Amino acid sequence: MGPARFRFFRACAVLAAAIGLPAGCALRHPTGPPKPDASPNIVIIFADDQGYGDLSCYGHPTIHTPHIDRMAAEGMKLTQFYVASPVCSPSRAALLTGCYPKRVGMHRHVVFPPDDWGLHTDEVTIADLLRERGYATACIGKWHLGHRRGLLPTDQGFDEFFGVPYSNDMSRFHRSESDTYPHALPLMRADTVLEWEPDQHELTRRYTEEAVNFIDRHHGEPFFLYLPHSMPHIPIYASEAFAGRSPRGLYGDVIEEIDWSVGEIRAALERHGLSERTLVVFTSDNGPWLPFKTRGGTAGPLRGGKGSNWEGGQRVPCVVWWPGRVPAGSISRAVTTTMDLLPTIARLTGAPLADRRRIDGHDISALLSGEGGATSPTEAFIYYTSNGEPAGIRRGPWKLLLEAGELYDVEADIGEKWDRAQEHPELVAELRVLAEARDAEITATARPRMSVLEPLFKAGP
Ligand code: MG
Repeated sequence: MGPARFRFFRACAVLAAAIGLPAGCALRHPTGPPKPDASPNIVIIFADDQGYGDLSCYGHPTIHTPHIDRMAAEGMKLTQFYVASPVCSPSRAALLTGCYPKRVGMHRHVVFPPDDWGLHTDEVTIADLLRERGYATACIGKWHLGHRRGLLPTDQGFDEFFGVPYSNDMSRFHRSESDTYPHALPLMRADTVLEWEPDQHELTRRYTEEAVNFIDRHHGEPFFLYLPHSMPHIPIYASEAFAGRSPRGLYGDVIEEIDWSVGEIRAALERHGLSERTLVVFTSDNGPWLPFKTRGGTAGPLRGGKGSNWEGGQRVPCVVWWPGRVPAGSISRAVTTTMDLLPTIARLTGAPLADRRRIDGHDISALLSGEGGATSPTEAFIYYTSNGEPAGIRRGPWKLLLEAGELYDVEADIGEKWDRAQEHPELVAELRVLAEARDAEITATARPRMSVLEPLFKAGP
């Protein structure tokens, strides 16, 4: 769909709002009355490497996150929410496509500056789905799904991009081997480099200002704001206003600045009267980077962290806020994943999925709206290593780690301390067969990633 058609749909949405129709689809679907909130705004805030235990509403004793805590108090806290990979790029591919990274060819670890590949543009992202519905779409923050020409957010359904194309440590400025590391970190708008090696103390604040500005510009039409923060991925930075504030040290300062940012987004929504027309999701792309000790985060009661298939690598905090639709103060203990967001958003916005490509996530809108009896639609969740090898499977409370043959009841034993495999040999065998069958199906039907020969920008200034 070309820019002219997008502008046409955008104009239809604005016109629909102006004449009192629910915006977005009224003029495009004349055969049936649209539902009252058929075009809710969608905001996904994605922290980087923030652990399960790093928010006060998830039990951190000294990091103070009043804005996220308030979202949880007025919305839903999910306690068994998973990302589909313990590292950045595959996790982001899964969030945006609703697929295991392997299904979309994005399972082989993260994209580095010299790499020529990224998410295939034939894949349908949440932004693609919503742009087709007349939404304004923006990616503000860290992309990390390919940075050659044709692989940026503006090639994947986003009208706008402001941020960095890969991780904030992929920079000669931050590398101990900087003498030989040729790559600098660009700050970009759309496909143009604005600055090389931006001052990272200011990244969270600048992303937030851009995000609030996007809401201010698009409050009269449906919008999708994807805000993947660069922080608290190492190296961590907080602005002067937050530095030195938290007893947890710089890491606490960084999380508290992200919490401030959540408060700014919420204030912008309230200022425009959009609270009851906006779904806000706050979560993280993978667990904490533990080798960095107190410079990194904590997974709280969970074992392991980033890069591992222990729960601490892949179970992340997730808070969902939508006053009037998501019951206040609710907690869901159902097994849910980032892959569920795309089909859930499709359901909430009426975006058709039936004739699309195979995906792995499930619609969890019934769970989020607190419908009595709603259960997890995820029958089994497959854990993959950071290089895309099948590593484990979870079904019900049981988690089998394939290589070690260890079996944990991760509901009774959240810290994965007691291997129960010897007590349940038949269950171990059954789960192994199921994991192998699921992985075989994904492998057999996997789609390719996309390679682009032409670099978009040089390695640095
Ligand atoms: Mg990450």
